[in-house]
Amino acid sequence: MTLALELALFHTLVAAGVAFLVGVLVGRRQARARPWLVGSLVAAFLYAAGFALELAGDDVAWVLATFRVQHLGVAFVPSLVLLVAFEFARPAWARSRAVQGVLLGVSAATYLAVVTNPWHGLYHVAPRMDASGPFPMIAFDRGPWYVAFHLYVAAALLAANAVFVQAWRVARGQARARAQLLAAASLLPWAGSGLYLAGLSPWGLDTTPAFLAGSVALLYVGIVRMGLADVLPVARELVVEHLSDPVVVVDPTGTSLDRNPAAVALRSVLGAAGESALLAEPDGAAPGEAPVGAWRREVAGRTFDVRAVALSDRRGVPLGRAIVVHDVSQAARLEASLRELATTDGLTGLANRRHLLELAERDVARARRSGRPFAVAIFDIDRFKVVNDRHGHHAGDDVLRAVAACALANARASDAVARYGGEEFAITLPDVGEDEAAAAGERVRVALAALRVPVAGAEVQVTVSLGVAVGSRPSSSRSGPLRRADAAQYRAKLAGGDAVVVDRGEAA
Ligand code: GH3
Ligand code: MG
Ligand code: MG
Repeated sequence: MTLALELALFHTLVAAGVAFLVGVLVGRRQARARPWLVGSLVAAFLYAAGFALELAGDDVAWVLATFRVQHLGVAFVPSLVLLVAFEFARPAWARSRAVQGVLLGVSAATYLAVVTNPWHGLYHVAPRMDASGPFPMIAFDRGPWYVAFHLYVAAALLAANAVFVQAWRVARGQARARAQLLAAASLLPWAGSGLYLAGLSPWGLDTTPAFLAGSVALLYVGIVRMGLADVLPVARELVVEHLSDPVVVVDPTGTSLDRNPAAVALRSVLGAAGESALLAEPDGAAPGEAPVGAWRREVAGRTFDVRAVALSDRRGVPLGRAIVVHDVSQAARLEASLRELATTDGLTGLANRRHLLELAERDVARARRSGRPFAVAIFDIDRFKVVNDRHGHHAGDDVLRAVAACALANARASDAVARYGGEEFAITLPDVGEDEAAAAGERVRVALAALRVPVAGAEVQVTVSLGVAVGSRPSSSRSGPLRRADAAQYRAKLAGGDAVVVDRGEAA
């Protein structure tokens, strides 16, 4: 095979490579979204394929015929590459229809000039074959359009370089590698033309088409393959912007650097002092110390869950923290009312039976650890059915409330008073021994016997049967003292009521 044919084959392969990328884009249906990139690839393909055809022939008529293919690429490549670059440019005019029309118009006119050259000679002047090299090559003088167009090519390429280099300068993070690649890709054609014009290219071959194809292929990689790397940080930024939860970025000293709109709004409600109170790390944790911190805080009557995430650069140097605030006031209110519902008795406001069992468990565990005693009293109203029967259920309720209030008033702050059943109550007596518990039970019995509850047109007086039990051994379980107090209460009831019985045998 002759050298010319080998070079033609090489450019055929280059053209095929570029055509493959066009196929990938079309196959992925991204062609519509990237018209300038697809156009650049097609133009580079036509340029390389036309050049391959040119090299395959050796007379002027053939070469001029191949120019009709090749120059469709030559004429449009600079405009299309510049349009690819303009997609990255800041000013909006660079993406306007007018600019696109002018650039593509220059290319179209140039192509027309090439095709109609035989009639005016404005582009190629006196084309002829030059056989002085290793293989015959076309030679011609430069017409005025040729010169003007090549000045345009240089200007378009410089403009594309400027856009990509500027994008590289401002790019941060992952986007930087991509911007670097795009800038390098836009500079590559200079190398191809430079080699050729400086006479350094092998066999005096025009190296522009091959370098151009490489440049466009790199643009493809930068834009399509690395596009995701670029869109992710942008997407993340947008998510934070539009997040309804306030996000504040602080530096390692705790000074705030940035707020999303939700955080700006929150600050205007809470004030600067309220915001600092909310964002301050819990005591003991220096800002930026732990990788993640979380705390719940109430500010200005609202409840917030706050999460702080440490920010650091790639080498692990701390940059500060991103603090996300979540208003949980509603949930906190609901939680509080649910807890209240679950633990209190609706009629008397005392602890309910379940809550009393929990409290007793806690007190027993504490008693076990401290070795101190733990007592419990249980009392039941005597002949309460008579109250209901005589005065009605509402009056009965009033009596239950009054009994509850009286028992509570006669308990210590550390005691828990609960409604244990219908008209049965329990009092936990932590840190109390047998005699003291008996005295406490007696005090309650006497206070309740002295109680006069006014009900419609009458006054109700009640007595109670009260049982007391003390758990002092480490083996005391929660139910032990409660069960024994209940049994003692029953004995008081059997003895005629209005009495206190102390359970004295723990092992019983
Ligand atoms: P004793 O304890 O002396 O044996 O007699 P008692 O009448 O008090 O005992 P019993 O357990 O038989 O009856 C308890 C009564 O308490 C029956 C029930 O109607 C009444 N009771 C329970 N809960 C309530 C309540 O919430 N409101 C009212 N008004 N009555 C209640
Ligand atoms: Mg009763
Ligand atoms: Mg009862």
